[in-house]
Amino acid sequence: MASTAGPEIERLISLLAKLPGMGPRSARRAALALLKRREQLLVPLAAAMAETADKVVNCSVCAAPDTRDPCAICSDEARDNGLICVVEEAGALWAMERSGAFRGKYHVLGGLLSALDGVGPDQIRVGELIGRAKAGDVREVVLALPATVDGQTTAHYLSEKLAAAGVEVTSLARGVPVGGELDWLDDGTIVQALRARRPA
Ligand code: ZN
Repeated sequence: MASTAGPEIERLISLLAKLPGMGPRSARRAALALLKRREQLLVPLAAAMAETADKVVNCSVCAAPDTRDPCAICSDEARDNGLICVVEEAGALWAMERSGAFRGKYHVLGGLLSALDGVGPDQIRVGELIGRAKAGDVREVVLALPATVDGQTTAHYLSEKLAAAGVEVTSLARGVPVGGELDWLDDGTIVQALRARRPA
């Protein structure tokens, strides 16, 4: 197929097309928008991406992305060390933080257990979570996982492991729409789900 743009632009488009929610068509539109707004958009975006690639690491405690390790949340002495909220990905952590309702620490699993996709406990950060629960002064672990089959399989597995470690396990309240996308929920819903959390 003949290429309409040069190889550099085609490469940009093919990379943009890999982003969530993007396909080849929207990637072309995005590339065009970047090229049209070179100084306002393309140059600062390229700089921000380079800086992110250079400076952002995953926290060695909770796995949240940050420029420091341990991350700002793990380093915050004012936050409750005895309370850990478990999320699938950092997007859910950001949503919880936006709600301002949670003053504990986090643990990012980096995925969910899935028999279908062959994801076992060793492929996600389960061992690290159990280690934290056993090592420190952890009283309660709040599971903020999606209400999907994989989310609930993971929640069930973690509940058993954490209970064996002597930690109280709770889940965000059901009945509120805590689906796979915690980061899409409005802050009020998250606050409500957190307040009404119950034993997992
Ligand atoms: Zn951290």
